[in-house]
Amino acid sequence: DGRPTPGADGLRASTTLTVSAASRTYPIHFGDGLLGDPASYAPYITGDKCLIVTNTTVGPLYAERVVAALTALGKAVSVLALPDGEEYKDMERLNTILDRAMELRLDRKSTLLALGGGVVGDITGFAASVYVRGVPFVQLPTTLLAVVDSAVGGKTAVNHRLGKNMIGAFYQPRAVLVDATVLATLDDRQLAAGIAEVVKYGLIRDLPLLGWLEANMEALTARQPGALEHAMLASCANKAAVVAADETEGGVRATLNLGHTFGHAIEAAMGYGTWLHGEAVAAGMVMATEMSKRLGWLPAAADDPPGEAGAAAVKRVEALLARAGLPVRPPPSMTLETFMTYMSVDKKVESGVLKLVLLEGVGSAVVTAAYDKEVLYDTIMYYQR
Ligand code: NAD
Ligand code: MG
Repeated sequence: DGRPTPGADGLRASTTLTVSAASRTYPIHFGDGLLGDPASYAPYITGDKCLIVTNTTVGPLYAERVVAALTALGKAVSVLALPDGEEYKDMERLNTILDRAMELRLDRKSTLLALGGGVVGDITGFAASVYVRGVPFVQLPTTLLAVVDSAVGGKTAVNHRLGKNMIGAFYQPRAVLVDATVLATLDDRQLAAGIAEVVKYGLIRDLPLLGWLEANMEALTARQPGALEHAMLASCANKAAVVAADETEGGVRATLNLGHTFGHAIEAAMGYGTWLHGEAVAAGMVMATEMSKRLGWLPAAADDPPGEAGAAAVKRVEALLARAGLPVRPPPSMTLETFMTYMSVDKKVESGVLKLVLLEGVGSAVVTAAYDKEVLYDTIMYYQR
């Protein structure tokens, strides 16, 4: 029923959220030690063969416990460790997964399991969507970003040289199993990148979450279990609600891309992996807020300087992201031309018009192409100083 079960240490031992997408309804189970427990997997594995896709960093740390749990269920289990990095989320590594699936003679009932961060989750999900026109897959997210964002909602993809996530499919997992104990080995920079997506939910639709982050950012960056758990549950609840309303991004789901059009341009232009996705999104969210202010879309507040409606909101966003150790402006090397080149191949371009996610206030996002282009150019150039 989604109510937490108190554990011996007073923390929540297990919680379940439900994602009711149009194409499939599935659970997100949270629980310490879930990854090593055969019972976590039992309801979601139908055939007798499983392929765990991971990478060379996460595999050595956590694959063994997943293999043991699945083996205990009587499954034939294989592990494929891809090289680690955003630059390997590509067609070549997609083929590596499909080659292994063919060699193992996986069939329609075989299950792929994605053990890793968003890179492994996105590419494994895409492989699951195309292998024999679709096999079941389970998300085992191991980064904060993957827990709060990429493992939930069924967007799967690989990158193209000219643009992020340009080749992919909407394909929902059978389940998402979150074992937060694995976040202990994540480095601080990666943790902060995940926090950027948590802040995003606050900015687009959840003012209580934003307020909670402002009160608890240091607890979160210090990985206090209760703080991590609140951030994960609140984020997944937001993501699930948005995906339930709009699985394939015909409308409200696009608001989840706040900061992402600017961010994707930064990631691609700097070379995938140079700026982390969450870092680029953080700078992108500041840019989107600044642009909203310049458009006059942010309401005036008591703490705005005279004649600068929305200036306090921009400062508020910058201050919160900075407390997480995230960048609050794009790299100085990125010119207007570079931004426009990469933004023009973004998926949000429809018939040559670039839609952007902008704010009508902190906590309220709009997706629109009805903005003054000069303001977009001015905003980008403002950060080149
Ligand atoms: P990532 O998958 O590259 O993981 C970050 C790093 O942490 C990697 O080096 C990884 O090996 C390592 N790592 C993972 N788990 C670890 C652990 N428990 N301990 C130690 N190291 C660990 O990056 P990410 O931030 O998880 O995901 C970013 C990707 O997600 C991007 O490709 C982005 O486009 C995608 N994404 C997708 C969606 C979606 O809806 N599908 C949403 C947001 C982001
Ligand atoms: Mg994202």
